Amino acid sequence: MSKAYQQPNEADRSKFLEQLGSDRVRWDAEAIHSAASDMTEDLVFLPSLVVFPETTEEVSQIVRHCYLRAIPLTVRGAGTGLSGGALPVEGGLVLSTARMNAQPKIDEANMQVFVQPGVITQVLQSCVEEKGLFYPPDPSSRGSSFIGGNLAESSGGPRAVKYGVTKDYVLNLEVVLADGRIMETGARVLKNATGYNLTQLMIGSEGTLAIITGITLRLIPLPTLRWTFLVPFQNPNQAVSAVAHVFKAGLTPSAMEFMERDAIAYTLAKRPDLAFPEAELAQAYLLVELDGFDEDELQRQTDRLIPVLEGFEPNEIWMATTAAETEGLWKVRRSIGEAVKSHSIYKEQDTVVPRFFLPELLAYVKELGAEFGFESVCYGHAGDGNLHVNILRGKLSEQAWEQELPIAIRKLFKKVKELGGTLSGEHGIGWVQKNYMDLVCSPAQLEMMRGIKSVFDPKNILNPGKIFPDAK
Ligand SMILES: Cc1cc2nc3c(=O)[nH]c(=O)nc-3n(C[C@H](O)[C@H](O)[C@H](O)COP(=O)(O)OP(=O)(O)OC[C@H]3O[C@@H](n4cnc5c(N)ncnc54)[C@H](O)[C@@H]3O)c2cc1C
Repeated sequence: MSKAYQQPNEADRSKFLEQLGSDRVRWDAEAIHSAASDMTEDLVFLPSLVVFPETTEEVSQIVRHCYLRAIPLTVRGAGTGLSGGALPVEGGLVLSTARMNAQPKIDEANMQVFVQPGVITQVLQSCVEEKGLFYPPDPSSRGSSFIGGNLAESSGGPRAVKYGVTKDYVLNLEVVLADGRIMETGARVLKNATGYNLTQLMIGSEGTLAIITGITLRLIPLPTLRWTFLVPFQNPNQAVSAVAHVFKAGLTPSAMEFMERDAIAYTLAKRPDLAFPEAELAQAYLLVELDGFDEDELQRQTDRLIPVLEGFEPNEIWMATTAAETEGLWKVRRSIGEAVKSHSIYKEQDTVVPRFFLPELLAYVKELGAEFGFESVCYGHAGDGNLHVNILRGKLSEQAWEQELPIAIRKLFKKVKELGGTLSGEHGIGWVQKNYMDLVCSPAQLEMMRGIKSVFDPKNILNPGKIFPDAK
């Protein structure tokens, strides 16, 4: 840990206890350990203290105290992050937003919602859907991730392909700055040309610039129809090749997910309660969904979609005919991440390339696997060119995992860059990808980013150790 920081001492604890009460300031083993890791690999970093504010004013006072004492402060949402963003790598204090979860306030007339950062994404979605409104961003972790974490990682999900990612729905934010001041970043309007766009600067900033305490989101009408297709392929390359052609045909599915055979096999093994239409698994699948309000229009889209897919030699295309069948398919898709991760220690790369280059990317992943001796399971948001490459530890030696694999990952990211892509489509940089940043960001880009960080956080107390590559 860096000597530049103070770790919280007894006087700090007393200060927070006085402010928040004993149930919201914790340093017992259970609290420390549950704030020490997220869903990223098997990484563990222990904080000294965990606090649970409920209001913006409380957050402001906590941050102000950390600023004066130079205590490192890491904000934690639900801890489902996959780039180690919530890991307190410099110890110090973890500020959990778990209690900042008041009932969302819906403004139906303006189609907006105001929400605190600790509200679970799916809870927010259900709330607005009761009013016929729709908040589309749907990370597969939406049953547990918090909306504040979604903003801080600029999260996507299957529906991003038609509806965009979290950033496309954020109108205005209330944030607490590193010295404890409370600031609004914009206004709750659909257009805003008033100086720099501080709202968007916060999105994807991974808790390194400020703490998001209040969020105004725009909403859209909830589509009434969803038609879902499962398309099996014997050749995974054909599956990913089909993707760009669907869009070229003028179609915009509301989801277009790719899943390799093993991704489904591990999921069905871990979750025997889930139903899948095929007993004999194909080598890869596309899960394609069309949505809208008009049955005739969806039929016309289907009539154009099927011939495009058939051009890539799928097995028989299966269409869900009931809501339960649709939900069943999505349950399998949403369970893949957890199933693959529980199968073996893993490293996940959130690669993203222009979608026409997906076949080249997939082929290169397999080539690298053969060269370095690793097994990989790929799945993800193919419609966005976003392929999650899960490299499994399996029987790899310590030497191969720790020393040789980073070389393979560097090669992978070089290829991604060559194809016009980048390191992360939606999981962020955090702790585990920061040392690859030089591959995709020029020195000038990194200098601008560091400059922004130092303006917002001059003492570098907010989530230190993230995003920027270690000095070499
Ligand atoms: C099984 C599984 C499936 C997933 N599927 C997807 C997917 O489809 N799409 C996708 O995009 N991601 C996905 N993820 C990744 C993850 O769920 C998202 O990154 C999510 O947005 C993280 O939210 P969280 O509340 O868990 O944040 P955390 O992990 O707690 O924190 C993430 C980062 O946000 C910062 N942060 C949290 N709250 C705030 C705040 N209020 N203010 C400032 N900074 C804050 C933290 O400091 C940290 O840097 C998946 C993860 C898992 C485990």
